[in-house]
Amino acid sequence: MDKIHVLNSYDVLVGTNILDQLTKIVASENYSKTFVITTSIVGDLHFKKVKEVLPNAEKILIEISEQEKNIESVKEIWEKLFSLGCDRKSLIIIMGGGVLGDVAGFAASTYMRGIPFIQIPTTLLSQVDSSVGGKNGINFKEIKNLIGTFNQPITVLCEIDFLSTLPDRTFLEGFGEIIKHGIVADKTYFDFVTSKKPREFNTSELSKIILGSINIKAKIVNDDEKEKGIRKLINFGHTIGHGVEALSQNTDHPLSHGEAISIGMVVEAKISMLLGLISNTEVSQIIQSLNNAGLPTSLPNISVKDLIEKINSDKKIEAGSIKWTLIEEIGKGIINQEVDEKIIITALKSNYELTN
Ligand code: NAD
Repeated sequence: MDKIHVLNSYDVLVGTNILDQLTKIVASENYSKTFVITTSIVGDLHFKKVKEVLPNAEKILIEISEQEKNIESVKEIWEKLFSLGCDRKSLIIIMGGGVLGDVAGFAASTYMRGIPFIQIPTTLLSQVDSSVGGKNGINFKEIKNLIGTFNQPITVLCEIDFLSTLPDRTFLEGFGEIIKHGIVADKTYFDFVTSKKPREFNTSELSKIILGSINIKAKIVNDDEKEKGIRKLINFGHTIGHGVEALSQNTDHPLSHGEAISIGMVVEAKISMLLGLISNTEVSQIIQSLNNAGLPTSLPNISVKDLIEKINSDKKIEAGSIKWTLIEEIGKGIINQEVDEKIIITALKSNYELTN
């Protein structure tokens, strides 16, 4: 088992068959009750392993997808916690993908002003990115993660074995965030994670990749927990990506988070190129690496006008203008860039599958 310490406060544990670590963590405090919030898909597959080590844990089921990442789901969790007698001395364990992690993390952070919680992320994306760093939240007014908290879990436990039950599409979307970590922070890591198709990595290589991403994210979060500066590096691809993700939910082909971020990274790499920061060859290398990982790189049938409107309402607008995270080279991101709208439109228009 590997351990990465975050913010001088908690550990991210990574390994295979590591759920027994829960016993130690739970025994270290005198918790009144332990609740495991999960979904029926993840619960049916993996709750029994938690129950083996924590026989008294009570399961709370929440059915949730990106469309239900909202206050109604938070209320449902609060209601269930309240009716089951969750109090300030209780412990909450959140076991699921990034959507559940964000929503239940927000519910736990706000119920009775905050109950301690453990994240057990069960998708690749949530293991390499969303469970680390303490961002919890929900969508509001069709804007991604508009409402939320920075509140850290007491532990994150990444059980690699859980990834074996992921559908292909969900496994691949994790590579969107993995490749992003390489693009903004580490060229050697980028070269490694794009050296094969995702499914060709063996378990030990996959474990190295998960640790590599968590290390990159943890290092950035350690320097800037509340996203005042350098943590914005992690937002590469997200200004466009969040708009694409939100708008695609109303189409016949809703995109997953990792897929939308893949498209967002291509557009934002093109913006970087149009500003003279990176070369055309580097843009092609990024597109090729994402295609190779089975991720989409062209915009779906969403109008430029709608997308521009959506990104203008993005929460990262500071003092009236969006501050973009772009790249100076593969492995080196740059934050707080202002970009003329004409350049954004040019980059968007060069990226369509269909003519809008
Ligand atoms: P998700 O939570 O929707 O999970 C994808 C699907 O996989 C779901 O249907 C889920 O039921 C299923 N699933 C989960 N674990 C499984 C398993 N082990 N076996 C089989 N099926 C399983 O999607 P996601 O990609 O994990 O998370 C995306 C969300 O993460 C987005 O809402 C995004 O905004 C958020 N996010 C948050 C942060 C952050 O810092 N908080 C960072 C990146 C992304």
